[in-house]
Amino acid sequence: MVGALRSHRRGLWFKSRYAHFLKNIFSMDLKDEIRKLVELQKVDTELYTLSFKKEAEIPQRLDALKKEFEGKKKAFELSLENAKQLQLKKKEKELNLATKEDAIKKSQGQLFQLKTNKEYQAKLTEIASLKADASLLEEEVLKVLDEIENTDKKSKEEKNAFAEEEKKHKESESGLTSRIGEIEAKLKSLEEKKVILSKDIDKNILAKYEKLIKTRSGLAVSPVNVDTENCGACHMRITAQKINEIKMYSELVLCENCVRILYIPEDFSL
Ligand SMILES: [Zn+2]
Repeated sequence: MVGALRSHRRGLWFKSRYAHFLKNIFSMDLKDEIRKLVELQKVDTELYTLSFKKEAEIPQRLDALKKEFEGKKKAFELSLENAKQLQLKKKEKELNLATKEDAIKKSQGQLFQLKTNKEYQAKLTEIASLKADASLLEEEVLKVLDEIENTDKKSKEEKNAFAEEEKKHKESESGLTSRIGEIEAKLKSLEEKKVILSKDIDKNILAKYEKLIKTRSGLAVSPVNVDTENCGACHMRITAQKINEIKMYSELVLCENCVRILYIPEDFSL
Protein backbone atom coordinates (compact mmCIF):
# COMPACT_ATOMS: atom_id res chain seq x y z
CA MET A 1 0.00 0.00 0.00
CA VAL A 2 2.82 2.37 0.99
CA GLY A 3 4.75 1.31 -2.10
CA ALA A 4 1.80 2.07 -4.35
CA LEU A 5 1.43 5.50 -2.76
CA ARG A 6 5.12 6.22 -3.29
CA SER A 7 4.90 5.19 -6.90
CA HIS A 8 1.79 7.35 -7.35
CA ARG A 9 3.62 10.32 -5.81
CA ARG A 10 6.65 9.71 -8.01
CA GLY A 11 4.31 9.61 -11.00
CA LEU A 12 2.80 12.93 -10.01
CA TRP A 13 6.23 14.45 -9.45
CA PHE A 14 7.37 13.28 -12.89
CA LYS A 15 4.19 14.60 -14.54
CA SER A 16 4.65 17.97 -12.91
CA ARG A 17 8.36 18.15 -13.92
CA TYR A 18 7.50 17.07 -17.47
CA ALA A 19 4.69 19.62 -17.69
CA HIS A 20 7.10 22.26 -16.44
CA PHE A 21 9.65 21.20 -19.05
CA LEU A 22 7.03 21.29 -21.85
CA LYS A 23 5.81 24.64 -20.64
CA ASN A 24 9.37 25.94 -20.81
CA ILE A 25 9.93 24.56 -24.27
CA PHE A 26 6.72 25.97 -25.69
CA SER A 27 6.81 29.25 -23.87
CA MET A 28 10.32 29.85 -25.12
CA ASP A 29 10.56 31.66 -28.41
CA LEU A 30 13.48 29.82 -29.99
CA LYS A 31 13.85 32.32 -32.79
CA ASP A 32 14.22 35.08 -30.23
CA GLU A 33 16.75 33.02 -28.27
CA ILE A 34 18.81 32.57 -31.44
CA ARG A 35 18.58 36.31 -32.11
CA LYS A 36 20.03 36.85 -28.62
CA LEU A 37 22.76 34.28 -29.33
CA VAL A 38 23.68 36.13 -32.52
CA GLU A 39 23.99 39.36 -30.49
CA LEU A 40 26.08 37.54 -27.90
CA GLN A 41 28.24 36.04 -30.64
CA LYS A 42 29.14 39.55 -31.86
CA VAL A 43 30.48 40.33 -28.37
CA ASP A 44 32.25 36.96 -28.14
CA THR A 45 33.86 37.39 -31.56
CA GLU A 46 35.28 40.72 -30.44
CA LEU A 47 36.40 39.17 -27.15
CA TYR A 48 38.06 36.31 -29.01
CA THR A 49 39.85 38.60 -31.49
CA LEU A 50 41.05 41.01 -28.81
CA SER A 51 42.15 38.20 -26.47
CA PHE A 52 44.17 36.68 -29.32
CA LYS A 53 45.82 40.05 -29.92
CA LYS A 54 46.61 40.45 -26.24
CA GLU A 55 47.72 36.89 -25.52
CA ALA A 56 49.49 35.96 -28.76
CA GLU A 57 49.87 38.59 -31.46
CA ILE A 58 51.27 41.49 -29.38
CA PRO A 59 53.57 39.33 -27.19
CA GLN A 60 54.96 37.76 -30.39
CA ARG A 61 55.60 41.19 -31.89
CA LEU A 62 57.21 42.38 -28.65
CA ASP A 63 59.41 39.31 -28.67
CA ALA A 64 60.42 39.82 -32.30
CA LEU A 65 61.19 43.51 -31.63
CA LYS A 66 63.30 42.56 -28.63
CA LYS A 67 65.29 39.98 -30.61
CA GLU A 68 65.83 42.40 -33.50
CA PHE A 69 67.03 45.13 -31.12
CA GLU A 70 69.31 42.76 -29.22
CA GLY A 71 70.95 41.79 -32.53
CA LYS A 72 71.63 45.44 -33.33
CA LYS A 73 72.89 46.08 -29.81
CA LYS A 74 75.28 43.15 -30.06
CA ALA A 75 76.68 44.41 -33.39
CA PHE A 76 77.12 47.90 -31.89
CA GLU A 77 78.86 46.52 -28.80
CA LEU A 78 81.15 44.46 -31.02
CA SER A 79 82.16 47.55 -32.95
CA LEU A 80 82.85 49.39 -29.65
CA GLU A 81 85.00 46.47 -28.56
CA ASN A 82 86.93 46.61 -31.86
CA ALA A 83 87.65 50.31 -31.32
CA LYS A 84 88.87 49.54 -27.81
CA GLN A 85 91.14 46.77 -29.10
CA LEU A 86 92.64 49.17 -31.65
CA GLN A 87 93.53 51.64 -28.89
CA LEU A 88 95.21 48.82 -26.94
CA LYS A 89 97.09 47.76 -30.08
CA LYS A 90 98.28 51.37 -30.57
CA LYS A 91 99.51 51.59 -26.95
CA GLU A 92 101.35 48.30 -27.29
CA LYS A 93 103.07 49.35 -30.55
CA GLU A 94 104.01 52.76 -29.09
CA LEU A 95 105.47 51.10 -26.03
CA ASN A 96 107.54 48.74 -28.21
CA LEU A 97 108.73 51.69 -30.26
CA ALA A 98 109.74 53.63 -27.12
CA THR A 99 111.66 50.61 -25.86
CA LYS A 100 113.49 50.35 -29.21
CA GLU A 101 114.29 54.08 -29.17
CA ASP A 102 115.68 53.77 -25.64
CA ALA A 103 117.84 50.84 -26.77
CA ILE A 104 119.13 52.90 -29.71
CA LYS A 105 120.03 55.83 -27.40
CA LYS A 106 121.72 53.46 -24.99
CA SER A 107 123.73 51.80 -27.77
CA GLN A 108 124.68 55.19 -29.24
CA GLY A 109 125.92 56.25 -25.78
CA GLN A 110 128.06 53.14 -25.55
CA LEU A 111 129.77 53.84 -28.91
CA PHE A 112 132.32 56.22 -27.37
CA GLN A 113 133.29 53.87 -24.60
CA LEU A 114 134.33 51.12 -27.00
CA LYS A 115 138.03 50.42 -27.32
CA THR A 116 138.48 48.43 -30.49
CA ASN A 117 137.34 49.08 -34.02
CA LYS A 118 135.75 45.64 -34.13
CA GLU A 119 133.62 46.39 -31.08
CA TYR A 120 132.74 49.73 -32.61
CA GLN A 121 131.64 48.16 -35.91
CA ALA A 122 129.62 45.52 -34.06
CA LYS A 123 127.83 48.24 -32.07
CA LEU A 124 127.10 50.15 -35.30
CA THR A 125 125.56 47.00 -36.81
CA GLU A 126 123.49 46.52 -33.65
CA ILE A 127 122.31 50.16 -33.82
CA ALA A 128 121.41 49.79 -37.52
CA SER A 129 119.38 46.68 -36.73
CA LEU A 130 117.61 48.46 -33.84
CA LYS A 131 116.86 51.41 -36.13
CA ALA A 132 115.42 49.08 -38.78
CA ASP A 133 113.17 47.51 -36.11
CA ALA A 134 112.15 50.97 -34.89
CA SER A 135 111.32 52.08 -38.41
CA LEU A 136 109.07 49.00 -38.87
CA LEU A 137 107.37 49.75 -35.57
CA GLU A 138 106.84 53.36 -36.62
CA GLU A 139 105.11 52.14 -39.77
CA GLU A 140 102.94 49.85 -37.70
CA VAL A 141 102.00 52.68 -35.33
CA LEU A 142 101.06 54.87 -38.30
CA LYS A 143 98.97 52.04 -39.74
CA VAL A 144 97.09 51.61 -36.45
CA LEU A 145 96.58 55.39 -36.24
CA ASP A 146 95.03 55.28 -39.72
CA GLU A 147 92.77 52.43 -38.67
CA ILE A 148 91.76 54.36 -35.54
CA GLU A 149 90.94 57.44 -37.58
CA ASN A 150 88.72 55.46 -39.93
CA THR A 151 87.10 53.57 -37.06
CA ASP A 152 86.46 56.77 -35.10
CA LYS A 153 84.52 58.21 -38.02
CA LYS A 154 82.56 54.99 -38.44
CA SER A 155 82.03 54.68 -34.68
CA LYS A 156 80.46 58.14 -34.50
CA GLU A 157 78.02 57.22 -37.27
CA GLU A 158 77.27 53.89 -35.63
CA LYS A 159 76.73 55.56 -32.26
CA ASN A 160 74.20 57.97 -33.76
CA ALA A 161 72.49 55.19 -35.70
CA PHE A 162 72.28 53.02 -32.59
CA ALA A 163 70.86 55.88 -30.47
CA GLU A 164 68.19 56.33 -33.15
CA GLU A 165 67.46 52.57 -33.17
CA GLU A 166 67.20 52.53 -29.39
CA LYS A 167 64.75 55.43 -29.44
CA LYS A 168 62.63 53.76 -32.15
CA HIS A 169 62.71 50.46 -30.27
CA LYS A 170 61.51 52.08 -27.02
CA GLU A 171 58.72 53.87 -28.87
CA SER A 172 57.51 50.67 -30.58
CA GLU A 173 57.70 48.77 -27.31
CA SER A 174 55.77 51.34 -25.32
CA GLY A 175 53.24 51.65 -28.18
CA LEU A 176 52.52 47.93 -28.01
CA THR A 177 52.45 47.91 -24.21
CA SER A 178 49.90 50.70 -24.12
CA ARG A 179 47.89 48.85 -26.78
CA ILE A 180 47.68 45.92 -24.33
CA GLY A 181 46.31 48.34 -21.71
CA GLU A 182 43.67 49.59 -24.16
CA ILE A 183 42.71 46.01 -25.05
CA GLU A 184 42.39 45.09 -21.37
CA ALA A 185 39.96 47.97 -20.81
CA LYS A 186 37.95 46.99 -23.87
CA LEU A 187 37.90 43.32 -22.80
CA LYS A 188 36.55 44.35 -19.39
CA SER A 189 33.67 46.29 -20.90
CA LEU A 190 32.92 43.44 -23.35
CA GLU A 191 32.88 40.94 -20.47
CA GLU A 192 30.37 43.13 -18.67
CA LYS A 193 28.24 43.34 -21.81
CA LYS A 194 28.43 39.54 -22.14
CA VAL A 195 27.16 39.04 -18.59
CA ILE A 196 24.19 41.35 -19.25
CA LEU A 197 23.29 39.66 -22.57
CA SER A 198 23.74 36.15 -21.13
CA LYS A 199 21.30 36.78 -18.26
CA ASP A 200 18.48 37.09 -20.76
CA ILE A 201 19.17 33.78 -22.55
CA ASP A 202 17.65 30.38 -21.75
CA LYS A 203 20.08 28.49 -19.48
CA ASN A 204 20.21 25.26 -21.53
CA ILE A 205 20.72 27.06 -24.81
CA LEU A 206 23.36 29.29 -23.22
CA ALA A 207 25.21 26.25 -21.83
CA LYS A 208 25.26 24.68 -25.30
CA TYR A 209 26.46 27.94 -26.82
CA GLU A 210 29.24 28.38 -24.24
CA LYS A 211 30.46 24.83 -24.84
CA LEU A 212 30.66 25.54 -28.58
CA ILE A 213 32.41 28.89 -28.03
CA LYS A 214 35.13 27.07 -26.10
CA THR A 215 35.58 24.23 -28.56
CA ARG A 216 34.95 26.03 -31.90
CA SER A 217 37.57 28.82 -31.90
CA GLY A 218 35.20 31.38 -30.43
CA LEU A 219 32.44 30.86 -33.00
CA ALA A 220 29.29 29.06 -31.84
CA VAL A 221 26.63 30.35 -34.24
CA SER A 222 27.09 30.36 -37.98
CA PRO A 223 25.08 32.28 -40.59
CA VAL A 224 23.79 30.27 -43.53
CA ASN A 225 24.07 31.84 -46.96
CA VAL A 226 20.73 30.97 -48.53
CA ASP A 227 21.89 31.88 -52.05
CA THR A 228 24.98 29.68 -52.09
CA GLU A 229 23.45 27.25 -49.57
CA ASN A 230 26.46 26.87 -47.35
CA CYS A 231 27.57 27.26 -43.75
CA GLY A 232 29.21 30.64 -43.18
CA ALA A 233 31.78 29.15 -40.83
CA CYS A 234 32.97 25.96 -42.57
CA HIS A 235 31.42 26.48 -46.05
CA MET A 236 29.89 23.03 -46.02
CA ARG A 237 26.77 22.74 -48.19
CA ILE A 238 23.47 23.12 -46.31
CA THR A 239 20.56 21.44 -48.06
CA ALA A 240 17.31 23.26 -48.86
CA GLN A 241 15.55 20.89 -46.49
CA LYS A 242 17.90 21.85 -43.69
CA ILE A 243 17.36 25.53 -44.49
CA ASN A 244 13.62 24.96 -44.10
CA GLU A 245 14.26 23.26 -40.76
CA ILE A 246 16.25 26.25 -39.58
CA LYS A 247 13.53 28.66 -40.73
CA MET A 248 10.98 26.85 -38.56
CA TYR A 249 12.97 27.68 -35.42
CA SER A 250 11.39 24.82 -33.50
CA GLU A 251 14.71 23.32 -32.49
CA LEU A 252 18.39 24.18 -32.70
CA VAL A 253 19.75 23.07 -36.08
CA LEU A 254 23.47 22.35 -36.16
CA CYS A 255 25.87 22.24 -39.10
CA GLU A 256 26.62 18.58 -39.78
CA ASN A 257 30.24 19.40 -40.48
CA CYS A 258 31.38 22.01 -37.94
CA VAL A 259 28.54 21.41 -35.42
CA ARG A 260 27.74 25.09 -34.96
CA ILE A 261 24.25 26.50 -34.38
CA LEU A 262 22.91 27.60 -37.75
CA TYR A 263 20.73 30.64 -38.45
CA ILE A 264 19.55 32.65 -41.45
CA PRO A 265 20.73 36.27 -41.15
CA GLU A 266 17.78 37.51 -43.28
CA ASP A 267 15.39 36.19 -40.62
CA PHE A 268 16.79 38.70 -38.18
CA SER A 269 17.24 41.54 -40.65
CA LEU A 270 20.99 41.40 -39.88
ZN1 LIG B 1 29.64 24.48 -40.68
